[in-house]
Amino acid sequence: MANVRSEPLVSVRIASAVNRPRAGWADGLRVHLPASLLDRTGWRRGLRPDGVLEIPDGPSPVTTDDVACVREQRAFTDRRPLSARLPLSYRIVPGRARAIIASAIGRWNRRHVDRWAAFPGWPIDLSTDVLDDLRDGMASPGPRARRAPVVLTHDIDSPEGLSNLVDRFLPLEEAAGARSTSYVVPCAWRLDHGLLGEVIARGHEVGVHGYDHSNTTPFAAADARARRLDGARSFVERYSATGYRAPSLLRTRALLRDVGCRYRYDSSIPTSGGLFPTPNNGCASARPFLVEGTVELPVTLPRDGTLRFLGYGPDDMLGIWIDCAELVARSRGIVVMLTHCEQRFSGHHRALDAYRRFLECLRERSDRFTFSTPGRVLEATTLQAPAGAV
Ligand SMILES: [Zn+2]
Repeated sequence: MANVRSEPLVSVRIASAVNRPRAGWADGLRVHLPASLLDRTGWRRGLRPDGVLEIPDGPSPVTTDDVACVREQRAFTDRRPLSARLPLSYRIVPGRARAIIASAIGRWNRRHVDRWAAFPGWPIDLSTDVLDDLRDGMASPGPRARRAPVVLTHDIDSPEGLSNLVDRFLPLEEAAGARSTSYVVPCAWRLDHGLLGEVIARGHEVGVHGYDHSNTTPFAAADARARRLDGARSFVERYSATGYRAPSLLRTRALLRDVGCRYRYDSSIPTSGGLFPTPNNGCASARPFLVEGTVELPVTLPRDGTLRFLGYGPDDMLGIWIDCAELVARSRGIVVMLTHCEQRFSGHHRALDAYRRFLECLRERSDRFTFSTPGRVLEATTLQAPAGAV
C-alpha cells in the first residue's frame, strides 16, 4: 500500500458478530472504521444511533487493502518533530530536563485525550485486527487456547541505561523465566562491550536503536540515511543484531524500506502511540505485518515514558499494562513491551517494582501468556523478510 488515502473514520462499538466467529473477541470493543467502508459494505445499516455496530448478515466486500488502509492511516510520522528541526542535536539538553519538559506537556494534555488519540485510541486500539477478522471467509480460530507471546524490549539510550539493564532488569526477567531484547544506540557514546557481552552471554538479545539518536535519520536524504544506517554495521556483526528500533519511534516509509534491506525486522511502530512522538500515531494492530517490504513487529503496550509523562504512577501503569496485555492475548496478538532502563524512567526502584510485578503476573497466567523473542515470533508467522536482509 504505497498510497494510503486519508479516510474519515467513524468510532463504533462492536456488538456481537455471530456470523463472524473469528471476530468474537472484539465484542463490546470500541474501534475506528472508515466511513466509506461502512457505506460500501452496507454495515451502516447496522449502526445504531448510540454508536453500537451490529454487523449485518450476508457477505461484505472487505479486502486486505481495506485492512492495510486502516493499519497505515497513522503508521508513519511524516512531519519532523521539533527535536529533528533544531540546528544542534536536541540531546545537548540533559535527559532529566527533557523529561521535565515532556512531563509538563504530557500533564497539560492528559485531559485532551480525544485530540491526541482520536485515532488510534489510547491506550490501545485494535481497529486493524478487528477489521481483518471481520472479513468474509475467515476460519474460526478453533477451540484450542493459544498463549500470547510476550516480547520484552528496552531502548538503551545511554551508558546509565546499559548498566541498569544488566544490574536491575536482567535479574528480574531471568527470575520470571524471560529473556529480553535491548535496542542499543550504536554511535553516540562509548559502548561498554564487557556489559554487552554479558547481556548476550546470559541469553538476552540486542538490536540497533538508530545511529546517534538525533532523530534525523528518517527525514535525511537517501544517501545520508544509508550512511547513518550503515554506521551500525560493525555493531550488527559483533552482536548478531537482527532487529531495528527507530529512536523516538520516528519513522517514514523511506526509513522502513531501508531497514528492510538491512534487518530481519523493524519494531518502531506503536499500536497506539498516544501523544509522542506526534499526536494520533500508530498502526492499531497488535499483530506482525509487512509494510514497505519490511516485517514490522508493532510495540503493542503503552510505553513507560509516555505513561510517566502523562502523570501515571507505577501502580496505574501496572494496571494499564495488564489490561492491555489481556486484550492483546484475547485478540491473538503479540504483547510487545518497551521500557527504558534509566533512573528517570523504569530504572527508578518504584517503577522497576511495577515492572517486576508485571512479569510476575504474566508468569502466573501461563495458560494465557508465554515469554518469547522477536525471532521466535517471526518464525511462527508466514511473513517473509525481503531477500538480502540479515
Ligand atoms: Zn531511545
